[in-house]
Amino acid sequence: MTPVVALVGRPNVGKSTLFNRLTRSRDALVADFPGLTRDRKYGQASFGELNFIVVDTGGIDGSEEGIEVKMAEQSLQAIEEADVVLFMVDARAGVTSADIGIANHLRRQQKKVFLVANKTDGIDGDAHCADFYSLALGEIHQIAAAHGRGVTALLEKALAPFLEELVEPTEEEKAAAEEAAYWAAFEGKEEVLLNEDEEELTGEDRYADLPIKFAIIGRPNVGKSTLTNRMLGEDRVIVFDMPGTTRDSIYIPLERDEQQYIVIDTAGVRKKKKIYETVEKFSVVKTLQAIEDANVVLLLVDAREGISDQDLSLLGFTLHSGRSIVIAVNKWDGLDQDTKEKIKEDLERRLGFVDFARVHFISALHGSGVGNLFDSIQEAYRSATKRISTSMLTRIMNMAAEDHQPPLVRGRRVKLKYAHAGGYNPPRIIIHGNQVNDLPDSYKRYLINYYRKSLKIMGTPIHVEFQEGD
Ligand code: GDP
Ligand code: GDP
Repeated sequence: MTPVVALVGRPNVGKSTLFNRLTRSRDALVADFPGLTRDRKYGQASFGELNFIVVDTGGIDGSEEGIEVKMAEQSLQAIEEADVVLFMVDARAGVTSADIGIANHLRRQQKKVFLVANKTDGIDGDAHCADFYSLALGEIHQIAAAHGRGVTALLEKALAPFLEELVEPTEEEKAAAEEAAYWAAFEGKEEVLLNEDEEELTGEDRYADLPIKFAIIGRPNVGKSTLTNRMLGEDRVIVFDMPGTTRDSIYIPLERDEQQYIVIDTAGVRKKKKIYETVEKFSVVKTLQAIEDANVVLLLVDAREGISDQDLSLLGFTLHSGRSIVIAVNKWDGLDQDTKEKIKEDLERRLGFVDFARVHFISALHGSGVGNLFDSIQEAYRSATKRISTSMLTRIMNMAAEDHQPPLVRGRRVKLKYAHAGGYNPPRIIIHGNQVNDLPDSYKRYLINYYRKSLKIMGTPIHVEFQEGD
């Protein structure tokens, strides 16, 4: 599971500065969920090979009364969901009563807390920080978030257990292992594969033995639980309660048309009864972790609410994680034709940038359109993991260039030589040639779409990169 790091501290200690520094490394997106999460901000970050989620818990103002209450309101859930808490204080300001209040609270939590003294640039850090030992949180980690000083050392310590766990293979190793699994599944059918490129493209049997993990995500009340129940079928609803913290998703195996799936249920349908209001059962951290762990993300949006900024944030996180995506517009029942048209227009306008994603109009409540989702989930998964040979990629590139030759740049025709795969999930295609870096964006988009159409790749972005020469 992707670890979660929470930044805690009174206002002005430098939380957002550190947040920005951490998330910039993966030019992260920030999801602001107004109403749901108050001041909290979520970002994706990485340290070496390790991806993690950063939560800026917002300010806790110690000058007001009832700091415990404030913390409960604003930061408790974030702290609860975190694996590591970075408790930030201001080295220049010294210990304040708000710091003491927060420290008291944190000491009572069963959390790994790192005391971080920020703004140690241009001052004698050791002298300024000595006072913070009185907070009884152990070692003081001196940093200057604004300049990056001490941040690497801090992360090395704070993320140590996760870095150790990261015997996790590199992307290349993962791709190789995945490929080996496909071949194993395909054992005995080699001739079919080796015959023709076309066969390789349609050799879909090799996926059949691997379950496709898909996460059902979306805002509170969009219909996630209803859809999960619908997919599982009445007789499959399981009624026992799973132990676990609020942030754990539930993994439910499911078979359909001889394809295995694992539904990552972020809504918690297995819970017997909704005890809490939906706002409380919704957790951004849970959603982000589910995205990271899924092969395909099924994003539910509410036909009656339209596309919201939160939907776009979730979409942004999904694309940023490189996951395949299927979009389902739920609550499509009982709408008149005019409304339906308006919604479709709105979708086209706001979701133009994900034109590669299939959009379904469904009613989780009545079941209409739900079955078709599985086809798109399969398609998105297969698209993202499709193995395509160099000869096939080059052939398609040549076809594209014949249909529409590359433009002249400074009087010389751009020459495309050959193409090969640079990775999967999402697919990367590398095109070699002369002056390829000068190709205008319109021609690049044309090539991407040509690949998309001829390889029938849906539900995943295609990255085409260019390399000068051979
Ligand atoms: P937050 O309220 O905890 O999110 O704090 P901010 O990140 O907004 O920072 C508050 C102020 O402290 C800003 O004016 C920052 O420029 C400044 N600041 C943050 N980090 C550093 C640092 O490492 N050194 C110095 N000198 N100033 C910093
Ligand atoms: P979640 O918070 O995303 O898990 O949403 P729920 O599945 O709990 O659904 C929230 C509310 O929307 C419930 O009252 C559902 O009955 C209702 N709902 C869910 N799907 C549909 C649908 O397709 N049509 C209509 N009309 N209502 C739906």
